[in-house]
Amino acid sequence: MNPIADDDFTPGRVVPLSELISRVTAPNGGKMTGPGTNTYLIGRAGGADVAILDPGPASPAHVDALLAAVAGRRVVALVVTHTHLDHSPAASPLRARTGAPRVGRTSSFPQFQDPTFQSDLEVRDGTTVSGDGWTLRAVPTPGHASNHVCWLLEEEAALFTGDHVLGTTSPVILPPDGSMRAYLDSLARLQQLSLRELMPGHGPRLLRPARVFELLVRHRLDREAEVVAALARAPQATVPALVDIVYRDVSEDLKRWAAFSLEAHLIKLAEDGRAFGTDGRWQLAADPA
Ligand SMILES: [Zn+2]
Repeated sequence: MNPIADDDFTPGRVVPLSELISRVTAPNGGKMTGPGTNTYLIGRAGGADVAILDPGPASPAHVDALLAAVAGRRVVALVVTHTHLDHSPAASPLRARTGAPRVGRTSSFPQFQDPTFQSDLEVRDGTTVSGDGWTLRAVPTPGHASNHVCWLLEEEAALFTGDHVLGTTSPVILPPDGSMRAYLDSLARLQQLSLRELMPGHGPRLLRPARVFELLVRHRLDREAEVVAALARAPQATVPALVDIVYRDVSEDLKRWAAFSLEAHLIKLAEDGRAFGTDGRWQLAADPA
């Protein structure tokens, strides 16, 4: 397969990536979104039908670009990986314009969520959405958010990873909706799938899934070891104090987000019985030996 212009993230432009997949980048590039949210179109270019995956933010320009890109084809579904504000809000105006159902998991957490998203179909493990020559299968992957679902395009062994896998950068885990333990369990599940490529929610596609998963797991376990080391050096530490130690490589404006991931590490350590927090101060559990 020829990786046609995979570095083209011009907002609104239709970039073909394979026989069945094209990408349209939303005009919301930034620190947390990279070049912008990737909206994927699934279905043959000249085919009868198409699914729109992660319709993106509520941008009229983006909605118009998507409608132009799918003109002449029936929109079968508006599929979402999760309902953060950069992924799902365009589903509602697109539903109004095309009549296609919204397909994803409605969030039960208010924080950082798109309040307009209501799924028109219940998504379970293995739920499929299909069209002419393509089938998307739901692979629930809680972690970044509890309602996160990756979607497997069976015909191409390509996995749409939303914010669960974003290239080599680790996604922010946002407790209590997000969970580090769930995130690692979900990665372990994805490692069992036989995949050819990953289509992330932001940035270029990834051609070596096994290697990507391995690096992400190692990165989190390295961070966890750093949190344990920091707690050993600074008992009774607060989250901000630990962020300064563990995420010293992160710029000041991103530390707010790093604090969420750090808290997620602490919660996992508490679940593992290795640390505990009292009144916002954390320490290692006494060695069971
Ligand atoms: Zn997200």
